[in-house]
Amino acid sequence: MTFTDFSFDRRIDAGIKACGYDTPTPIQRKAIPLIRNGHDVMGLAQTGTGKTAAFALPILQKLLTSTSSKRGARVLVLAPTRELAIQINESFTSLARQTDITSSVIIGGVGMQPQINAFRTSNVIVACPGRLVRLIARGAVDFKAVEVLVLDEADRMLDMGFLPDIKRVLAQLPAKRQNLLFSATMPKSILDLTKRILVNPKTVQINATSPVSSVEHVFYKTQPGGKTALLNEILSRSEHQSMLIFTRTKHKAKNLSRTLCNSGYDTTFLQGNMSQAQRERALNGFRDGRFSILVATDIVARGIDCDRITHVVNFDMPDSVETYTHRIGRTGRAGRSGCAISLVTADDVSQLRAIQRVMGVSVEQEAHTDTGAKIKEAKSGRPSSLSPAKKNPRRRGRKPSGAARQAA
Ligand code: AMP
Repeated sequence: MTFTDFSFDRRIDAGIKACGYDTPTPIQRKAIPLIRNGHDVMGLAQTGTGKTAAFALPILQKLLTSTSSKRGARVLVLAPTRELAIQINESFTSLARQTDITSSVIIGGVGMQPQINAFRTSNVIVACPGRLVRLIARGAVDFKAVEVLVLDEADRMLDMGFLPDIKRVLAQLPAKRQNLLFSATMPKSILDLTKRILVNPKTVQINATSPVSSVEHVFYKTQPGGKTALLNEILSRSEHQSMLIFTRTKHKAKNLSRTLCNSGYDTTFLQGNMSQAQRERALNGFRDGRFSILVATDIVARGIDCDRITHVVNFDMPDSVETYTHRIGRTGRAGRSGCAISLVTADDVSQLRAIQRVMGVSVEQEAHTDTGAKIKEAKSGRPSSLSPAKKNPRRRGRKPSGAARQAA
């Protein structure tokens, strides 16, 4: 199957080509025809599967062919984090580049007035619920023209406590609209939300509980105090092009980033206390390769779309299997392979078992492979399965650079 089988408007085909997409991904093959037929859709798909284009393409087609003369935003996409909202907006903009459809992002941390204006002038609004509710409270925005609602990463929005905000937004929307809800996981809270919002939905499911198969899982057992040494050892032996490291706290993200800078790695960090400009500087530097390592907390790393990420490291183990799935979904994207490395302490053992059960991987099994044999060695901080990575000799012993310093 190719994209031409969907018979999109030629301007959309041009956008698809410009994005470099040749073949539709499984979620696109399944979801696009349903969305084009006007169904409400529940998409159970993890990040990295191409789900953004799966909803953006049929929405763009709908906008191009609709005869509605209503003014104002006609599509509302809700996303849990600023980074994800920016990314979805970029996808709409790229795919619609040959059309006159416009898309804007509405997030916190930046001025409100341009966003209020965008609501009047843009066809597609991609928003974080918190900021949108503030605009609603001001009476500054009008949803009369909205025909399509998308809730992306709905499970994460609920995890982040956005349900009351989502309800407030829903109360503003016209009753007659198409609803699309995407979630990587399907806890009961999402089922309830689905029942509340979607009308006779069609469900599309892509590998709901297993990670993308292109990701290799490696677990290193270690002591809490031995993690930094172990990470340095892993770094010195791994051929990482681009590495995303997760820590549990903001403070740790910043400190670890500094430590790695001092060890000579081009590192930056991303956490919730940073201004929007600082976040973008760090993220852009990571995306364009100026920083080969990004240390981040879950809250901000959720929306990172960077095809180059070869390694995801759980410096601190995630607090749930769902979070593990989301974190490692940052690598092995768009058909590439990736490696997920977890540093496991005695406190993480039950979490590790849950992850292994759901993901279908086991340490015992790993122990017979190259990396597994190093799991035990990892205690002494000497994983040896990985070949050396290049450091930037200029940076050894230097202070944190660029965005990292500014963000501090
Ligand atoms: P998403 O799951 O929407 O975050 O997409 C993951 C990555 O896959 C993004 O970098 C997209 O640009 C890319 N992508 C989406 N659809 C395709 C496709 N059909 N072929 C190749 N890459 C794609």
